[in-house]
Amino acid sequence: MQHLKKQIKQQREFYNTQKTKNTAFRKTQLKKLKKLVTDYEKEIQEALQKDLGKPNFESYLAEIEFVLQELRYTLKKMDNWVKPQKVNTPVLHFPGKSHIYHEPFGCVLIISPWNYPFHLAIAPAIGAIAAGNSVIIKPSEHASETALLLEKMINQNFEPGFFCVILGEIEETRFILGQKFDYIFFTGSTQVGKIIMKASAEHLTPVTLELGGKSPTIIDSTANLEVTAKRIAWAKFHNAGQTCVAPDYIYVEDSVKDAFMEKIKSVLVDFYGTNSLESPDYGRIINKRHFDRLTKLLDNADIAFGGQTNREKNFIAPTILNNASWDDAVMQEEIFGPILPVLEWNDENDLIQQINRRPKPLALYVFSDNKTFIKKIIQETSSGGVSVNEPLSHITSVHLPFGGVGDSGMGNYHGKYSFYTFSHAKSVMRKRFYPDLSAKYPPFSKINGTMKKILKIIS
Ligand code: NAD
Repeated sequence: MQHLKKQIKQQREFYNTQKTKNTAFRKTQLKKLKKLVTDYEKEIQEALQKDLGKPNFESYLAEIEFVLQELRYTLKKMDNWVKPQKVNTPVLHFPGKSHIYHEPFGCVLIISPWNYPFHLAIAPAIGAIAAGNSVIIKPSEHASETALLLEKMINQNFEPGFFCVILGEIEETRFILGQKFDYIFFTGSTQVGKIIMKASAEHLTPVTLELGGKSPTIIDSTANLEVTAKRIAWAKFHNAGQTCVAPDYIYVEDSVKDAFMEKIKSVLVDFYGTNSLESPDYGRIINKRHFDRLTKLLDNADIAFGGQTNREKNFIAPTILNNASWDDAVMQEEIFGPILPVLEWNDENDLIQQINRRPKPLALYVFSDNKTFIKKIIQETSSGGVSVNEPLSHITSVHLPFGGVGDSGMGNYHGKYSFYTFSHAKSVMRKRFYPDLSAKYPPFSKINGTMKKILKIIS
């Protein structure tokens, strides 16, 4: 593990040179990254195809274009973000001046998962670099082709002390976590998030935890079922259901349940044909461990559509489960695969209570044409974010912060929120030597309450 120790030491030494404090340096690095992402587009798609059977169009939209959008926006806006922000100064400190400086934390560690292995490694790094940190990425070992490509792209093109990729499995990650960092940005499961938070507590290192959860998808009787079914099928079966913000389960008003079931079944045939194993537009499960975990959820389930599996090919067809209940195995944990249970509701207060009894999800979706119902759902439930009438859309906006709450995480990023996540807000007040208010100095008996009177006047 000595090479890892050396690498981390190099990062600190580089950070201490002050080079990253220069905005022009940061922009040059981000421009270089942008060019690399464009130059490597084909190789990125090939790696994602090998790791997850991702269709090229899906890879382009959700991994490459997503990162390019963050890069373009950050390069356009960061001159404004880095400027110290002038704020008011209390009269007591007249004629002082107050500013908030956005200071980089220092050496940042980014630990990323396998489901969007390119996007989720690079997107946080953009914010970390824009904010002036040195960065180490530890990608997931399970998306090994993408991890190797990331190592090649970054390590061959950036100063190793400034920006590098470290490969490793759990043992290496544990070792890395034992070292001192100034900020840790973790994307992954809630279970591992707890390990990360414990390890970072040893060094009092601040963390962002981007975790998962069961994202509810509510449909009421006013929803346009045609569009609803299409959008849900697209969001759920994108990347074969291995998306942190995928609709985890459907909660549909009982009066429209049968109609919804028919619509989504027909949409799935339109999307992937009658044999989704042959569809070039449908992905694969990452590995046998997850394949076995997911197929077990199908035992004794009421399969309304799909259900076909092929272990050799890590294939599970888009699957809809009818008559699901809160006691089913599939409703106990985040599914993270192409299985969509459907539950029904008929009382909106009970629906809200059921959701609020469970851990806070990363996302919540509501399909409805009823403004009062939508408002009630947004106000009376808690989740990382909400999209109304289209799942996933809130996470694709550079203007909205993306992150979880409670069990689904803490902190957020994207656009300016990434910059602020990786910056310490340092308060700076500048004063002159004169005037020098003597009333505040001891011995206090001399001032006979003068200071109190002044405070009362100016407050
Ligand atoms: P994971 O938690 O198993 O792994 C994530 C990272 O942690 C990997 O780099 C892995 O090497 C490392 N890791 C795993 N076990 C570890 C341990 N014991 N000690 C130290 N490091 C360890 O997650 P995953 O399976 O890669 O991804 C799936 C999970 O991630 C799902 O729960 C999903 O919802 C969540 N996720 C969240 C987001 C988000 O933005 N909030 C995005 C994608 C995925």
